[in-house]
Amino acid sequence: MSTKSMPILAIVIPCLNEELVLPATAKTMSAKLDSLVERGLISPDSRIYFVDDGSTDDTWEFITQLVNSDRKFRGIKLARNYGHQYALYAGLMNAEGDALVSIDADLQDDINAVDQMVERYREGYEIVFGVRDDRNTDGKFKRWSAALHYWVAARFGIKTIPNHADFRLMSKKAIAMLGKYREDNIYLRGVVPLLGLKSCKVFYARGERYAGESKYGWKEMFGLSVRGITSFSITPLRAIAFFGFAVFLISLGLSGWALWAKMTNAETGIDGWASTVIPMYLLGGLQLLAIGVVGEYIGKMYMEVKKRPMYQVEEILGGD
Ligand code: UDP
Ligand code: MG
Repeated sequence: MSTKSMPILAIVIPCLNEELVLPATAKTMSAKLDSLVERGLISPDSRIYFVDDGSTDDTWEFITQLVNSDRKFRGIKLARNYGHQYALYAGLMNAEGDALVSIDADLQDDINAVDQMVERYREGYEIVFGVRDDRNTDGKFKRWSAALHYWVAARFGIKTIPNHADFRLMSKKAIAMLGKYREDNIYLRGVVPLLGLKSCKVFYARGERYAGESKYGWKEMFGLSVRGITSFSITPLRAIAFFGFAVFLISLGLSGWALWAKMTNAETGIDGWASTVIPMYLLGGLQLLAIGVVGEYIGKMYMEVKKRPMYQVEEILGGD
């Protein structure tokens, strides 16, 4: 039985090669769930879902053991590695509950914030965003690149919640709405605020990764940033048109001047080299950049029109 005041909670955890942290994660999450149940805040039918995103270590073996040892655990095995956002999406689409909390496997996000998330849910909020107070535990590079990303995204008119990663609670209703976004280039941090449901934030301090290494290198972060921006804004395309127009105006002026100099045999002081190569380099670079940006969108359209499945579930463990 579930009610608004005693919801079935599902914690969804994407995992890629997390054998080093999973024992600690399972223990911590399990204790959290038990304490919430004991205090009568959530239903005893609440569950913890681990989504194995194509791990190559013993992650799935460990999840299998967990599911066999305790009925509060469930496992979802994806057919291969799809990436964090897809693993998360797959987990959210397959988990059952009145309120779903997504959290990383590495215990970086403070699990105690879940108490407040549940409270907010019980007060009637459909989405509760976990926002970190500070980024002290991130390296300099991660902090600067994150700041740059949020700045550019804001300039392009994209509504995201700064310093909110994918630690959030979503109600069943919000999940159903999210399920309608079947875009290949899913970027949850951008889509969830678009849902428009009643939402709020809870703040927490983000710790260090408990064990193992980050699965997000600069390549993945750059990819996520580009996806986050180009999936939500066509401002880069407009910027090209704008630049193109500005360059066109300048070249119009320069052409007029060149024509005038030619016709009047005016002394231009040009012996031809700098005035030839500078526009060549500049325009060549600008054109390549512009083609690259246009290509990014065409690539997106290419992936979208194929309508390939966003993820494939190989196996689900636990449940009835
Ligand atoms: N993850 C995943 N698939 C991937 C990459 C990462 O499921 O392709 C999971 C990973 O196991 C972790 C979460 O996504 O639970 C966040 O990854 P990580 O902690 O490595 O990223 P960071 O916190 O360093 O940004
Ligand atoms: Mg992490």
